[in-house]
Amino acid sequence: MKGFAPPRFGGAQIQHEPLPITRNITVTEGISVKDLAEKLDVRAKDLIATLLMKQVFVTVNQSLDGELVKDVARQFGAEVEVISVEEQLENEAITTLLEGDTSGLLEVTRPPVVTVMGHVDHGKTSLLDAIRETDVAAGEAGGITQHIGAYKVKIGNPASPAFGREIVFLDTPGHEAFTRMRARGAKVTDIVVVVVAADDGVMPQTLEAIDHAKAANVPIIVAVNKIDKPEANPDRVKKQLGDRGLVPEDWGGSTVFVDVSAKKRINLDLLEEMICLVADLGTLRATPDRAAVGTVIESKLDRGRGAVATVLVQNGTLRTGDSFVVGNTFGKIRAMFDDHGRPLEVAGPSTPVEILGLEGIPDAGDTFLVMNDRDKAKGIAQYRKMKEREAQLAKSARVSLEGLSEQIKLAGVKDLNLILKGDVQGSVEVLAHSLQDQSTEKVRVKVLHSGVGAITESDVLLASASNAIIIGFNVRPERKAQELADRDNVDIRLHSVIYELEDQINKAMHGLLEPVFKEIYAGRAEIRDVFKITKVGIIAGCVVTDGLIKRDVQVRLMRGGEEIFKGKIGSLKRFKDDVSEVRSGVECGIALAGFSDYKVGDVIEAFLTEKMAADLGMTLTSQKAKEKAAAEKEKAAAEKEKAAAEAEATT
Ligand code: GDP
Repeated sequence: MKGFAPPRFGGAQIQHEPLPITRNITVTEGISVKDLAEKLDVRAKDLIATLLMKQVFVTVNQSLDGELVKDVARQFGAEVEVISVEEQLENEAITTLLEGDTSGLLEVTRPPVVTVMGHVDHGKTSLLDAIRETDVAAGEAGGITQHIGAYKVKIGNPASPAFGREIVFLDTPGHEAFTRMRARGAKVTDIVVVVVAADDGVMPQTLEAIDHAKAANVPIIVAVNKIDKPEANPDRVKKQLGDRGLVPEDWGGSTVFVDVSAKKRINLDLLEEMICLVADLGTLRATPDRAAVGTVIESKLDRGRGAVATVLVQNGTLRTGDSFVVGNTFGKIRAMFDDHGRPLEVAGPSTPVEILGLEGIPDAGDTFLVMNDRDKAKGIAQYRKMKEREAQLAKSARVSLEGLSEQIKLAGVKDLNLILKGDVQGSVEVLAHSLQDQSTEKVRVKVLHSGVGAITESDVLLASASNAIIIGFNVRPERKAQELADRDNVDIRLHSVIYELEDQINKAMHGLLEPVFKEIYAGRAEIRDVFKITKVGIIAGCVVTDGLIKRDVQVRLMRGGEEIFKGKIGSLKRFKDDVSEVRSGVECGIALAGFSDYKVGDVIEAFLTEKMAADLGMTLTSQKAKEKAAAEKEKAAAEKEKAAAEAEATT
């Protein structure tokens, strides 16, 4: 027999009707058909046949999307929880730790990872270079300094209590780089060293750096640099920072200050010692005998070597030959090198390594996971790529003022994080106080950062990393900042009246803020005829005169410039067929939902609505502001009257 033949499954059982739910199973994202069948305890070909019934064509090794897994599993009587690979690995590690042979899974202290921040020209780069040159390991067995995004030093001073210990420094100084990583969900830095030039003192970017470190909950060490300069005044720096809550230890506080000179190499070993000391206050532990987990520090396409990335191994041990998934790509370690270009076979916790063997180029901040099943790694990478595309389509919900009360209820949001920028220091301070005073027992208003000047990219990054809302008081965002905010869905509010702002925050916290929508014009159709069709009802025969009319748009019916009806389309037809869209110049039949009194000559306007995020502040007038304005007007009128009465009395 020729022609169409249905796919054959050799007697596969299709599960047409869902079975009653009898069990719960947990699967990892991107699970393959084969593995899912195993979990469900059904034959792979039955699963494939059932998927086919849902118009999904798959092969045994193909990985499945979470929703599909849930859907098809229900068919077989199982409720599914889909967890991420990270969760899965974490679960496995915990299980092995609890139930497995713990003697093999020794916990060790891992070296701290440090980011250097500070105002421009205060000596961040000089300090990083100077520290790097102290590395004793560098002297051994050759190797030239390679800039791979991070380096590790070994403390070589036998007199130091930290002798022999190691520290990892990230090579890209500054809070923007730090927060950019954080905005991508990466937690890499254990300690921040804020560099302040002793001759210049605390500057705006010093404060910004401190706020960024605090928002990330990372301990701070202050390196007071350039103390070799005659005009250096380290005490002034201590005083300035003490006023900001970073009180030096010798003044009764808890912040470690170290006077250094990057140029003259003064106290560099003391700084390293202090880093180890602060690290010991935390719990920087790692389990070397597990599969490696890390984060991409930087990546590039190298002409000779292909895709190259620097990965900071954060836990476990990485070995050449390991297969891995990283971001939405994968690979197998073909070779790895340390920060001196020396080849390595193994890399333990807190080791930055440059790796070869990637199938694609990951992004800085991507998670790196060893997964010794190459097919699985590939499946997960593909799955993530798909998810990423989806996420771009439906931008993830961040905190916004409109959604705040909902998020408090659903997600238990406890902090309303704000970033405040204003035109003058005075008003920023007043605002910061008055807004923080609005905290309730349920929600705490927290100002993560405040400052004078336009809203910058760095502000948006911080908002993005800390799920904060940015408020501009008499200032606007820089163009790049606005672009980044649009891309990352960061809510920016612009205000010029303090009352309005307070009122808006207050309303948002109590769930009273109405979302504001903006209309986006989609197209227009003119009614040329009106029909009555049995069983269907009254249909407007139209011609689309402009744009595109889609089945799911919102519409308004206009008659002589007046809006007669506003609602949705009930049905959209071309001849007898239902269609999803009709283009300009094409005839169609439209039936509006809940309206049928069409007249020839009416115009149907189609539009979409989008929730407005940015730029709304100024248009949202508040009751308080109105009241105040009214009161002032009244007062002015009364004064005028009084003056008039007085003038009359004197004449
Ligand atoms: P960054 O912008 O924070 O990375 O600052 P740099 O490391 O580029 O340093 C800025 C300038 O300060 C350079 O001219 C350095 O030579 C100088 N500098 C850095 N550290 C010291 C120091 O300890 N003492 C003195 N006198 N100059 C320094």
